[in-house]
Amino acid sequence: MLSYINNKFCPLDKAYISVNDRGYQFGDAVYEVILYKNGKFLDLEGHLNRLRKSMSRIDFELNISDSAIKTIMKRLVYENDLQFGSIYIQVSRGEYSRDHSYFNMPLKPILVILTKKIKENFKTSVPGIKVFTTSDMRWKNPDIKTTQLLPNVLAKTKGMKNGYGEALFLDDKSYVTEGSSSNFWILNKDNVLITRSLDGKILAGITRESILNCAKEKNIKVIEKNISLRDIQSCNEAFITSASSFVTPVVQVDGMIINNGKVGSFSKLLRKTYLELNE
Ligand code: PMP
Repeated sequence: MLSYINNKFCPLDKAYISVNDRGYQFGDAVYEVILYKNGKFLDLEGHLNRLRKSMSRIDFELNISDSAIKTIMKRLVYENDLQFGSIYIQVSRGEYSRDHSYFNMPLKPILVILTKKIKENFKTSVPGIKVFTTSDMRWKNPDIKTTQLLPNVLAKTKGMKNGYGEALFLDDKSYVTEGSSSNFWILNKDNVLITRSLDGKILAGITRESILNCAKEKNIKVIEKNISLRDIQSCNEAFITSASSFVTPVVQVDGMIINNGKVGSFSKLLRKTYLELNE
């Protein structure tokens, strides 16, 4: 696999980053994951815009244009013979002698772009997953897409060990914030689609935005508000969204079985519609 590391194309097994990279030492880096399907980067503009926003939120910028990034992505896809895959973009503040403060450090961010072949994610129909809830132990700016993902990593792994496909974080009032790597939605008992608002406690998912637009086009009533465990208990359907999982149905949250443990027709349709939109 060819990759792009700090201004050079190079094979993945020769792609190294300095141990003094601030992404490695402090999680001082931001990232994006973009799916690629037969000539199309899904929601590309949204992902590149959010990448810029994330950098600006942690006080640096990258002087490589979006069109240059797209050219690099296209070359990687071509050289790696990718038909179905994902593109990982990471930008760290750069390599410096270790120091907590970056005050007065000259700006020299490092851009890394990696590709991965994946096919199974693109299935139009997938089984529902079980998820579990756990306290949201992240820092107070989970709306910035940084590589500081240890609480997410621990929660997801704990879930996987116990047969759960995702961990749902709960805020201190026991409302769901989001998944460890996804946004969470329910279709409530009145068939209103609900997802948490962008209140700073969740990542503004690019797939979330696409699904909101999709729902509006189809005249489905959507409310952006907090979701309680009681709301989940009485909901008709639940699902998660993310760039790499699109729409994934949820059939159980902790001990609560949703829709008799079956994938709901709404979630199924939404996944299909999202994938067809990106044909
Ligand atoms: N929340 C978190 C914490 C995530 O890591 C992700 C996936 N990056 C999402 C939500 C979904 O965002 P997106 O749809 O942009 O992939």
